[in-house]
Amino acid sequence: MKVGIPRALLYYQYYPMWKTFFEELGASVLVSGLTTKATLAAGVERLMAETCLPVKVYCGHVLELKSQVDYVFVPAVRSLEPKVFNCSHLLGLPDLVRAVIPEAPPLLSPDIDLDQKSSKDKHGYPSSSPDVSFKARRVFYQTIYQLGSHFTHNPLRIKAAAKEAWQAYQDYLRLMQTGLTPPEAIARWEGDDTHHPSAIGHPPSAIGHPPSHTIALIGHPYNLYDTYITHNLLTRLRGLGVRVVTPEMATPEELRQGVLDLAGQPYWAYEDAMVGALGHYLRDDGVDGFIAVASFGCGPDSTLLDVAQRAAREASRPFMSLIIDEHTGEAGLVTRLEAFVDMLTRRKKMQGR
Ligand code: SF4
Repeated sequence: MKVGIPRALLYYQYYPMWKTFFEELGASVLVSGLTTKATLAAGVERLMAETCLPVKVYCGHVLELKSQVDYVFVPAVRSLEPKVFNCSHLLGLPDLVRAVIPEAPPLLSPDIDLDQKSSKDKHGYPSSSPDVSFKARRVFYQTIYQLGSHFTHNPLRIKAAAKEAWQAYQDYLRLMQTGLTPPEAIARWEGDDTHHPSAIGHPPSAIGHPPSHTIALIGHPYNLYDTYITHNLLTRLRGLGVRVVTPEMATPEELRQGVLDLAGQPYWAYEDAMVGALGHYLRDDGVDGFIAVASFGCGPDSTLLDVAQRAAREASRPFMSLIIDEHTGEAGLVTRLEAFVDMLTRRKKMQGR
């Protein structure tokens, strides 16, 4: 059995976990390639113009995989903690893919929802505990068994695969917290340090220059690390001598504290990556500026970006937002990056730093 995993959306957060799970069950895994002009064009052709860019990219990756695999893994992730939700595109992703790519092979599409209420509390209301409820855990384990049963009917084997997968995820998180971006951590996790070096770009320290500035790059990982849709943003920043820090380099606890500081209890799953990362790096005086990347037409980003922008302004810290879609031009983006870095240099001079 060959399982296809599109290199888009949640891939950047969970790929080592998914890969381990399927391989432990005897399947082989095929990941689509880096996004190209053709990938994006294929996705754009199938979707309405208003759909956000990352979903168009995702469909392009499914189209690339469709004739090469037995299944495509397209999870529907509604919530991974109580009262914190993904957007409608992510929770309806399998339906969307089936509708626009009817010729796709069968989808492996588990429904992940850890917000399911426990049975009623003593007053007859659904439990409002912030912890994942017993019912949600039970449903989640059933979902994992159903997913694994495509490959084996041995529940112990599925349980062991899930355990290994969780371990791989923890290892992956730890690698990112050492200062690696998700593509770099995936390459390291796979034992391939030369994996896509040109796509990733080397940190300034690795090419012999001390960094001139530190910039926190914030936003959804599928925007930050897709080298095609952001025109190699990370590489370009590093090429300008900038040290880049990203949300994944902080711990989940630090990001959550950042959200609590700036916006209170989170509602959207990606608040950690935008508002949480901003809140966390605002506490670090070594961070000279912030660049937020968001997709045109993204509902959650339209509010999160506003929160982030206001917080940066109130703290008098340089902030730039980049709203990307399939028409974002490379020249305009490069000009804005260079202008932002120049501004940081002038600002430091004026401050005598
Ligand atoms: S969160 Fe925004 S960018 Fe991400 S899939 Fe939803 S609408 Fe698109």
